[in-house]
Amino acid sequence: MFKKILIANRGEIACRIISTCKKLSIPTVAVFSDADKRSLHVSLADESVNIGPAASSESYLSIDKIISACKETGADAVHPGYGFLSENHNFMNRLEKEDITFIGPSAEPIRIMGDKIESKIFAIDAGINTVPGHQGIIKDINEAVSIANEVGFPVMIKASAGGGGKGMRIAFSEKDVPDAFTSSINEAKSSFGDDRIFIEKFITKPRHIEIQILADNHGNVIHLGERECSIQRRNQKIIEESPSPFVDKDLRNSMGNQAVQLAKKVGYSSAGTVEFIVDQDKNFYFLEMNTRLQVEHPVTELVTGFDLVEEMIKIAAGEKLNVTQNDVNFKGWAIESRIYAEDPERNFMPSTGRLITYKPPLEIDNIRNDTGVFEGGEISMFYDPMISKLCSYGETRIEACNLMQEALNNFEISGIENNLNLLSSIIKNKKFLEGEINTGFIDEEYPDGFSSKVLDEVDALMFSLTAVFAHIKEINNSQHPESQNNSSLNEKSLVASIGKNIFIFKTYNTLKNTIIEHNGKVISLESDWKPEDKIIKIKIDDSFLTLQIKKNVKGFDIKGFGLNGNVNVRSKISHDLSSHMIEKVIVKNTKIIKCPMPGLVVSIDISEGQKVEDGDKLCTVEAMKMENIIRSETSGIVKKVFCKEGDSLAADEVMIEFQ
Ligand code: ADP
Ligand code: ADP
Ligand code: MG
Repeated sequence: MFKKILIANRGEIACRIISTCKKLSIPTVAVFSDADKRSLHVSLADESVNIGPAASSESYLSIDKIISACKETGADAVHPGYGFLSENHNFMNRLEKEDITFIGPSAEPIRIMGDKIESKIFAIDAGINTVPGHQGIIKDINEAVSIANEVGFPVMIKASAGGGGKGMRIAFSEKDVPDAFTSSINEAKSSFGDDRIFIEKFITKPRHIEIQILADNHGNVIHLGERECSIQRRNQKIIEESPSPFVDKDLRNSMGNQAVQLAKKVGYSSAGTVEFIVDQDKNFYFLEMNTRLQVEHPVTELVTGFDLVEEMIKIAAGEKLNVTQNDVNFKGWAIESRIYAEDPERNFMPSTGRLITYKPPLEIDNIRNDTGVFEGGEISMFYDPMISKLCSYGETRIEACNLMQEALNNFEISGIENNLNLLSSIIKNKKFLEGEINTGFIDEEYPDGFSSKVLDEVDALMFSLTAVFAHIKEINNSQHPESQNNSSLNEKSLVASIGKNIFIFKTYNTLKNTIIEHNGKVISLESDWKPEDKIIKIKIDDSFLTLQIKKNVKGFDIKGFGLNGNVNVRSKISHDLSSHMIEKVIVKNTKIIKCPMPGLVVSIDISEGQKVEDGDKLCTVEAMKMENIIRSETSGIVKKVFCKEGDSLAADEVMIEFQ
């Protein structure tokens, strides 16, 4: 076994790998950039080495620095995690020269599978189903148009070097091809320094289903079943589960067999993932193979009981797999939600800054939260905006879904924009609950973008009842115990307003619970909530709810189930009087557009003197591995543009001024 393992990564995955090393009693070395000095992975490892400046290219991607960190600490093996150098065959060759073991497959399978064109040709040779298309490099727009016509629309125009959902565009008809081809090629050039493009059929309403495999250095290969990863934004997964509600035993066997066949043919060892796209008739096609530990590996661990990192370490140390395919059993259902520092209500704009509150619901049973952050820590602009991976496990899918909803409602994050609301909204979606999903789910279910602020009447009533309960508790708390009984037993009329919904309630406070009358119906409310609590667990008649609640000047800000609303509670009299108040006019101050986060200006899409409308694209800024489109929030005429393509901007730097 290895004497010491260096983890050439950061964040949650570095922490995840350290935890298995601890279990196996193998000492660990963390590497960190200047931006990560106080990171969790550094404090968890036995030793740590600074490998340079914040920019990945000068630290986590520097082969020289990682190799010298190994030498300095005497590490005899490296686990690369995912991203960074994990799929870089040059890194492996260098490690081999230095006699350091790479915990992963060998260089050749990584090289072959790292290229989408080459791996597809390889898969065809291996007898694997692949997406119909053209396996050659496309030179220019004219060729793209003729090949696209040959393949048949719709087509996916794809970068051979692509990854992370980048460098791919759909063309539905001939007229889409020039733009799609140009953007793919540009994104491929800037993200991967490689502009080779190919074209394949775009599979409509597909599911993304992938097979986890394990292979040792002795020719044994098994699969650990599938993960369904169809819930995606920007072609990147945000919710994954295992098993898939779409996969039966037969389909699992055929997909599993093909994945194993491919792994054998390419001489694979270690853990790996073969990704497939599956159409509505259960035809499946190879997409790519990820020759590394996958982000969503925990769901497989939860349903199979394997520790994939442990398997990778043992395989790299030359051990034989100690199980055969028949020993692999699947039990229960697991779901993972990726919690990102991004704003799903503003086109998934990444957010950076300090995590003022970070309280994962660790007290709930059957919840796993893989993370690399802590309360008070920082999400920086330099890396991936992931906060954590929250997993739930249940006997059945519905149990796992309910548990996930409860966990998301209990998860407290503040200081940074995050996607908790979107995740809860998806988990409670009827189609999701029925397993009716495909990779277009988010666009289909949220055609105008996601908003947590649109509440139907039932939800508005649920939030209002909760707020009224909290309001009564607060008043009782602030009163003298002796007068409390008298006043609280009195009947009161209260008005709760949330958005356009106004509810008039009669309330009766008994010592045990609160009784509310609404439209002649009697509703009973019960909770142990105290005014300082940020989470309220409330029983409304027979249903139990968990919501987050925060008092502010306008009432109570309530969050949960993907919704967010502010409820104003007041007495009937003050509500009636309020109609005499002069309405406050909100003035939009959008004359100036500031850069929302530190980043690089990729394009400026308007010019001085141009007239723009509300919602028009103004420019694109790249930050945290993503391109973010900045849109106008008003209509007007551009007076001045303060930046140009290629500029690096700080947060809040002025970009554009309107007349
Ligand atoms: P997929 O596995 O389908 O490519 P993932 O979401 O697992 O999608 O990862 C997307 C890409 O981004 C992968 O190439 C992965 O290696 C990379 N990546 C994801 N997270 C990080 C990270 N924290 N640091 C570096 N690279 C990352
Ligand atoms: P990456 O390396 O960026 O992960 P993939 O080839 O794995 O690229 O594709 C990522 C996602 O893009 C898939 O999960 C799927 O949603 C979508 N996609 C890719 N190719 C196709 C296709 N031919 N038809 C439909 N969707 C596709
Ligand atoms: Mg992929």
